[in-house]
Amino acid sequence: MTAALVAFCPSSAAGPVTAADPPPPVPRGIGDRLFPYLGNPGYDVTAYDIALRYHGNDRPLDAVTTLRARATAPLSTFNLDFAHGTVRSLRVDGRPARFARAGEDLVVTPARPVRDGAPFVVTVAHTSDPSGSGGGWVRTRDGLAMANQADAAHRVFPCNDHPSDKARFTFRVTAPANLTVVAGGTPLGRTREGGGITWRYRLAHPMATELAQISIGRSAVLHRTGPGGLPVRDVVPAADRERLATWLRRTPGQLEWMEKKVGPYPFETYGVLIARARTGFELETQTLSLFESGLFTTSGMPSWYIESIMVHELAHQWFGDSVSPRRWTDLWLNEGHATWYEALYGDERGKMPLERRMRLAYQQSDAWRAAGGPPAAPAPADPDQQIGIFRPIMYDGSALVLYALRQRIGPAAFERLERRWVRRYHDGVASTADFVRLASQVAGRDLNGFLRPWLYGRTTPRMPGHPGWKPEAAPSGQGVTEAGGKAGGGADGKADGKADGKPG
Ligand SMILES: [Zn+2]
Repeated sequence: MTAALVAFCPSSAAGPVTAADPPPPVPRGIGDRLFPYLGNPGYDVTAYDIALRYHGNDRPLDAVTTLRARATAPLSTFNLDFAHGTVRSLRVDGRPARFARAGEDLVVTPARPVRDGAPFVVTVAHTSDPSGSGGGWVRTRDGLAMANQADAAHRVFPCNDHPSDKARFTFRVTAPANLTVVAGGTPLGRTREGGGITWRYRLAHPMATELAQISIGRSAVLHRTGPGGLPVRDVVPAADRERLATWLRRTPGQLEWMEKKVGPYPFETYGVLIARARTGFELETQTLSLFESGLFTTSGMPSWYIESIMVHELAHQWFGDSVSPRRWTDLWLNEGHATWYEALYGDERGKMPLERRMRLAYQQSDAWRAAGGPPAAPAPADPDQQIGIFRPIMYDGSALVLYALRQRIGPAAFERLERRWVRRYHDGVASTADFVRLASQVAGRDLNGFLRPWLYGRTTPRMPGHPGWKPEAAPSGQGVTEAGGKAGGGADGKADGKADGKPG
């Protein structure tokens, strides 16, 4: 929930600055090694209010995004992340402000500088363009959904687009009366407005920009109850309602299963959004995870494996959503844990023993490290393929680190650590160093020496308790495992798109 204080300015070409010579606009970031221009220094966003008017999924939406923020430095200018839309006007505290584009940033010069520590409000009237690829809006057969991870929220709305700056979110979406709009969080009501309907939603907990979700389409909204009376809400294409029913019924049991493992579900509601779209991945958008309908209707995967993918996205609500990564190099904490519970679920269903899956991961771990870097020091992705950081090493390769830790400290201490982790850092952000520190506290011994080679080593350390396990010297990390046909590419499937291999 706090923005970093240290500015990262990749361009040093600005030269000396005088009062008469304002600096040229440059994109800035908060120093995330994998995404140097994501996020912005000097302020902390506390709340977003995003108003959208939908005209069809082939036309830009009209939008007004209001950010409430607090300065963490004196601001004569500041940056917002925003690309792929037109800015019509921009105000700071109600006064028109100057703005210029620099890369994927808007450089804003308020009429009056913002004092250090002062709250301020930025109101941007803009368009939000669903065309093109690169993340953000996902065009479905009947409307739109959203997939912003990792760096695409700013293709939808102006923001401080980094998970280390979580904020409150309110959505107001106006759409034709024959469509249904659902966003993360819970509904605040709807009103008729000039031939359309405006739907309002708010999240009760802070959220990272990458986890925002809005569904617009011909949808059925189905309600049921989870453990402890938790409202469970699913959003599916109205035409697919019957044939998806069997899958939707699984969620309450999966919630119960996860709560037994790590403690109470962290948010006010949960559910799945099943969209008629081809994304190549599923996504843990906060309180409403996004799934492609094809996963359930045409993937041909066994039902236990599809369920384990549902558990993967559910587990992210604790690991990745409630506890967000401080930097994208901490991504292994998201994917490693989600894969861990996905694998544990398959194990407990008697379908894929955890030890077998981990042995297969161990065999490929060195190749995965060579291809993508170690879990906590991943190599950057190609600039035109930013979701390329979602590689096998982040999934089964990082679940393997958790397995090694459990082997080392024992199942009881490991379970205590997991529960304490999601309790201590809920609604916040946490880093790899935080995890190592807490693991050491829970285990009652310093685990730096043990975990560092697992997290940062170019090769995979020996597995405690399995001296016979050997890494294979494979030339690439793309082999098919029995775990799910995706070479540990993960249930989200971002690394390689959909599986072509069949699970074992
Ligand atoms: Zn995942």
